Amino acid sequence: MSTTQIVIAVVGGYLVVTAAVAFIPAGLARSKGRSFSAWWGLGMAIGIFAIIPAALLPVHRCPSCRETVNPQASTCRYCRNPLTPAVPVGAVEPMNSAVMAMGLAAIAFAVAVVCWAVITH
Ligand SMILES: [Zn+2]
Repeated sequence: MSTTQIVIAVVGGYLVVTAAVAFIPAGLARSKGRSFSAWWGLGMAIGIFAIIPAALLPVHRCPSCRETVNPQASTCRYCRNPLTPAVPVGAVEPMNSAVMAMGLAAIAFAVAVVCWAVITH
């Protein structure tokens, strides 16, 4: 097995495992009415550790139908009941785009490592 193959196997394996693991905090956040993609990005960026902030997310429930809703929502996504946002918009997940960028950067870095391994060997 050449160095190139080892690097590709390690980085590829890392990407596959991290992408799969990232579904755990993403699903957890989704169940609390948060952005699945942003939390998946965080999972890609920091791996299994994203479960900790996801687990600590407070659950906001619609006072009308008791479904979990995004704390920034002005209308319940289930029953269309008007909600009073619990917090100012942007205060809860200002990191949405930053976290997505971190996840993509982690993927880009891994891809760059594979390219480097292919080109230089
Ligand atoms: Zn509702």
